[in-house]
Amino acid sequence: MQGLIMNVPLTITAIMRHAEINHPATEIVSVTLDNPRHRYTYADAFRRTRQLANALSGYGINIGDRVATLAWNDYRHFELYYGISGIGAIIHTINPRLFSEQISYIINHAEDRLLFVDPLIVPVIEAFKDELKTVESCIVMTDEAHMPQTSLPNVQCYESFIAKASDNFSWPDLDENTASGLCYTSGTTGHPKGALYSHRGVILHAYASISPDVFNFSIGEVAMPVVPMFHVNAWGVPYAAPMVGAKLVLPGPKMGDGATLQALIEEERVSFSAGVPTVWLALLQYLSESGKSIESLNRVLIGGSACPESVMREFMDKHGVYVNHAWGMTETGPLGTVNTLKAGMEKLPDEQLYKIKMKQGRTLFGIEMKIVDDDNRELPRDGLASGLLKVRGPWVCADYFKMEGQSDVHDEQGWFATGDVATIDTEGYMQITDRAKDVIKSGGEWISSIDLENTAVGHPQVAEAAVIGIPHPKWAERPLLIVVKKEEQEVGKEEILAWLKDRVANWWVPDDVVFVDEIPHTATGKILKLALRKQFENYQFPNI
Ligand code: AMP
Repeated sequence: MQGLIMNVPLTITAIMRHAEINHPATEIVSVTLDNPRHRYTYADAFRRTRQLANALSGYGINIGDRVATLAWNDYRHFELYYGISGIGAIIHTINPRLFSEQISYIINHAEDRLLFVDPLIVPVIEAFKDELKTVESCIVMTDEAHMPQTSLPNVQCYESFIAKASDNFSWPDLDENTASGLCYTSGTTGHPKGALYSHRGVILHAYASISPDVFNFSIGEVAMPVVPMFHVNAWGVPYAAPMVGAKLVLPGPKMGDGATLQALIEEERVSFSAGVPTVWLALLQYLSESGKSIESLNRVLIGGSACPESVMREFMDKHGVYVNHAWGMTETGPLGTVNTLKAGMEKLPDEQLYKIKMKQGRTLFGIEMKIVDDDNRELPRDGLASGLLKVRGPWVCADYFKMEGQSDVHDEQGWFATGDVATIDTEGYMQITDRAKDVIKSGGEWISSIDLENTAVGHPQVAEAAVIGIPHPKWAERPLLIVVKKEEQEVGKEEILAWLKDRVANWWVPDDVVFVDEIPHTATGKILKLALRKQFENYQFPNI
């Protein structure tokens, strides 16, 4: 027997309708190139979103079409989040910091038809515009007055694109499993892979995220996501905020600027923020240099890389800002775990308290998590056994876009292998202890150790090369290159670094090179990264 409950689909459109009726006057404040403080309300935002929807439909964008954005956090990007998904099309958010080959690969792979681009990012696209096979038109996210000179094809500005469109639009009734967004991750080996989100997944994630032990959002909240809107939907904040009527503060291209962040926090009374560890260093440094305060800021969610204890302590002890450590992935929408303390833990001695707070935390309701050994056998939750972390849940990707059935990270029981190695303790707190995937996360961006190794081995005097990530106070991790020279050959560190500088992006170049006689291997001849990481666990970069 079925329950007699209305089967109302969980769609992003519902957030729009809800916020427009219940929170029309709540503000969205943005920093853009054309306006250092753009200010309007949810009513304004969703009226313009209907104009955008008319313009997109009028252009011929259909259900399932992909529309790309290369943009910072601002109100036009917010309108695109809702306008594109609302008509049943898919918003494909792209990280402009990727290499041009990666960006053109993912645009072509996604078959994006339109490209919405921030004026500051226009030159990035111009460099490889001829490689783009499916893009019909580029829309620069500004007005006529601020339109840059550009060689992009079929280009116009955002304001002109929506100007003539009516703000009367009847949103289609979508099935809740309709795809809503697409985000590629380069945190895997090989080409970037597309995580294809659904309306239902986004809504369930947003419900989970506003709860007390996660964002703890309420109507009085002022939320400033410092995590980019191109990185897993800015961790869902642009959906969660209008759900509760929280004011949104979007720092645009100024996310790495401590002075702007401090000014936004104080002037707009920001109470909640979220971002990867590296972005907070600029703010904390600015605060210590200027002596200015961030009194309104109540709490910060830090994830994407392990949060250094020093960052957590500076926020908590010096500025009275509570820090919650969180873990997630592009494939997990992203929230998987958040570290909140159980009753009584606050009173633990300082050292014990921070030992717990440094862990990545417990799962949100909806996410299941386990650790397994090499034979996929579940390991005990005793805080000691460490194994491959697997998760599953209603906002976790079941497959990758256009790779259906080919995934080697999903098993028959529906578990997704994260590539992270972790322990889970008796209280349910997960802690990342290592990484099984061969990538390094530097300042929130991925570096492929395999690509670096292959490039290094191309050097005529190098016999074998391995790259591992070493903890770094600013970038979370930086690559260290370990080299075995060819027999009776001489080559120096500078020569190898110069070789790499000519062949990889600047920020991929390892911070140091060390020479060894031998690199450890598995029985099948693969480099034993685990053993190497152990061997170099006390290594420190010379430039720190
Ligand atoms: P991405 O898909 O780019 O968001 O990266 C996800 C990966 O970032 C995870 O699989 C982890 O390797 C890493 N990561 C995310 N959050 C944390 C955290 N709190 N501590 C350590 N690593 C993290």
